[in-house]
Amino acid sequence: MSLAFAPHDISAGAVLTVDLSALRSNYRLVRDRVRPAEAAAVVKADAYGLGATRVASALLKEGCRHFFVAQLCETRDLRAHLPSAAQLYVLNGLLPGAEAEAIALGVIPVLNSLAQVEAWSAAAVQLGRRLPAALQVDTGMSRLGLSAGEVEQLRRHPAMLDGIDLVLLMSHLACADEPAHTANADQLAVFRQFAAQFPAIRRSFANSGGAFLDTTYHGDLVRPGIALYGADPVPGAVRPRPVVQLDARVIQVRTITANTGVGYGLTFRASAPTRLATIGVGYADGWPRGLSGRGAAYVRGVRAPIAGRISMDSMTLDISSLPDDALRAGDLVELIGPNQTLDDVAGDAGTIPYEILTSLSRRYARIYTEDETALSNRVARSA
Ligand SMILES: *Cc1c(COP(=O)(O)O)cnc(C)c1O
Repeated sequence: MSLAFAPHDISAGAVLTVDLSALRSNYRLVRDRVRPAEAAAVVKADAYGLGATRVASALLKEGCRHFFVAQLCETRDLRAHLPSAAQLYVLNGLLPGAEAEAIALGVIPVLNSLAQVEAWSAAAVQLGRRLPAALQVDTGMSRLGLSAGEVEQLRRHPAMLDGIDLVLLMSHLACADEPAHTANADQLAVFRQFAAQFPAIRRSFANSGGAFLDTTYHGDLVRPGIALYGADPVPGAVRPRPVVQLDARVIQVRTITANTGVGYGLTFRASAPTRLATIGVGYADGWPRGLSGRGAAYVRGVRAPIAGRISMDSMTLDISSLPDDALRAGDLVELIGPNQTLDDVAGDAGTIPYEILTSLSRRYARIYTEDETALSNRVARSA
């Protein structure tokens, strides 16, 4: 059994714990919710910063067989880690000239334009074998995918699809995190018109938010990302289990006298003798600099506000409300955990959990645990 964190690992400024059992539980939550539709997993951007190969391996054990990344380069490592029965899709499609590498890797491009359709068809014809692809249609987000007019062109010139096995018709919701938004029903209606023209092809429409809309949004294959990684896909919906915990190391403790400044620009000035702890996480670690003077860490459940500006590699906490001997160098303080959730941090920073996760530092000590009770042990220990 691995510990949720390793107190002896003192080479990094913080410890990031990724709870793979919580990840798997969140996958089951979505999978059970959308049945009989199938649940894929979106593992783009290194599985939202958590490690795509670790995440994909864990989800394979839950029976997940469809994985989505955004860019072809993201498939290089991942393809080798997945069994051949697992499908790997590239959401952004292929830039001109990337077809040969996609074929060599055995991945499935999402074709987003007629030019991508033509290039993939030409590659298949040249190769003399059929190649799988997903076809994306634009239902209102205006980001990627064919317009109605372009689909019409495809219908009139079916030879454009020569050599292509369309395995998925997909589109993406712009407002799935707002269930009451009228754009959801509008996009669904447009998607159904497209789907009627490709009756034999499996449909994929919903992201995490879409999974928590009604079943008419689910199609055949749902593409959850953020819900797997522990953020609430729809405010007030079923809460996924937290997957990440971030604990920063105290690197120095000091007491300053009244009227002493703290940090760059001396934007914090102590009004009374103040006890400070400097911790080993800064904006280079993805901790938003916008939390300067606004955010906090938690020490055994007690809020310790950030004093002054966040530096590149560290920030300073006001720990005056804690007992004098509460913290020493090497101790851990909570940045993301039971007292301050991922959604809390994103809200305080004026951003979304996606951005907090994908910014998580590569230099954190990372611990992956599959132990059902690991994070709750960690909570008990710091309580
Ligand atoms: C990122 C992405 C998803 C996953 O979205 P979440 O909101 O994280 O569930 C699904 N589909 C497409 C096309 C995406 O770009």
